[in-house]
Amino acid sequence: MKEIVLIKVGEIVLKGLNRKNFESMLIKNMKNALRGADRCKITSSQSTIRVEPLDEDADIDEICERISKVFGIVAFHRAAVAEKNMDSITEVALKYLEETLGGASTFKVEAKRSDKKFPLKSPEICRELGGIILQNHNHLSVDVHNPDVQVTVEVRDLGAYIHASVIKGAGGVPVGSSGNGTILISGGIDSPVAAWMMAKRGLRLNAVHFASPPYTSQRAEDKVVRLLKKVSAYAGNITMYTVPFTEIQEKIKNDCPEELFTIIMRRLMMQISQRIAKDTNSSCLITGESLGQVASQTMPAIVTTDEASDMVVFRPLIGMDKEEIIRISRKIDTFDISIEPYEDCCTVFTPKHPRTKPVLKYVKEAEEKAGFDEMIERAVSNLKITNITP
Ligand code: ATP
Ligand code: MG
Repeated sequence: MKEIVLIKVGEIVLKGLNRKNFESMLIKNMKNALRGADRCKITSSQSTIRVEPLDEDADIDEICERISKVFGIVAFHRAAVAEKNMDSITEVALKYLEETLGGASTFKVEAKRSDKKFPLKSPEICRELGGIILQNHNHLSVDVHNPDVQVTVEVRDLGAYIHASVIKGAGGVPVGSSGNGTILISGGIDSPVAAWMMAKRGLRLNAVHFASPPYTSQRAEDKVVRLLKKVSAYAGNITMYTVPFTEIQEKIKNDCPEELFTIIMRRLMMQISQRIAKDTNSSCLITGESLGQVASQTMPAIVTTDEASDMVVFRPLIGMDKEEIIRISRKIDTFDISIEPYEDCCTVFTPKHPRTKPVLKYVKEAEEKAGFDEMIERAVSNLKITNITP
């Protein structure tokens, strides 16, 4: 029996004239997400997107798993395909749902008839199929309000489909439909979650990672690549820019007051990330900061960090507790990687007593005295580029 996947799109419906663009973006993202899985044909008609496996023995579980990570999809159905006549519809429905109906006590049939040429009206389809199901499963009774199983028949221009369950999609809007954003990614728990949240709202991602070898190891950098790979299952392709940060960090350590090490480092990260963002057609920065979580995330510290760039900075975790962030990191499967114990450049030269209320004037004076301009140029001209794909 042939099975396909029927996609229900979400907020796309709200977008009026842009709808077509959104839909083609979604289909492109679905194709990318399905690359390397069994071959599928994706078609759109009558506001429904169909994913049709081209091989008899395609792995539909794998296809559904991948589709469940594509933003812009609210829900989807695995459905059996029937010919557009009642004999085929009833035959396929009985066979496809044998087990499901066998384990239920009550059911109802619903019909959606978008092919207006189909001779039976929706209530007639329900009555006929409902009657035959009752004849074949005499333990069942009909419950129109709260059935154990709802059998849905969709008669559409391309075919008739039967399904009895719904799978939750990833929600959000299609990646790319909101433009491009640059995530500052560390190996920690927070930034991969922040990346996922903004991809969910339609941003296509670039990533910037600061590495300070030999203080930070190749393994720490590989960990970030593995984290981004997990995020890319949802966010699609991501270009990662690794910034050589050693020289700058050593200069901070040698030439700046110790209690300002962290804040100056964070400001330089913002400046360099902004340069990369602008060069790569990205319109905003994204960080994993959460208010009050650590010394560099007090309100005055965030305000002082923010001042270093003139680009919009999205901080999707700002009002979230650590438990809420961890819950998402487990869901997107980044948690176990994030807790692997590799050093991050943030843990190199950390001051014993970081300023939790930095004064911008003094911070800027210290930065000017040290003079970072040339080093920033060197850092941005020595980026390492890694392409991450789902
Ligand atoms: P995370 O869990 O994301 O590491 P954190 O709670 O450890 O965050 P910080 O270390 O203060 O907090 O970092 C705050 C944010 O700064 C991170 O969420 C990330 O966006 C950015 N960041 C920190 N370290 C790096 C790095 N090495 N490369 C790129 N961005 C970084
Ligand atoms: Mg960190």
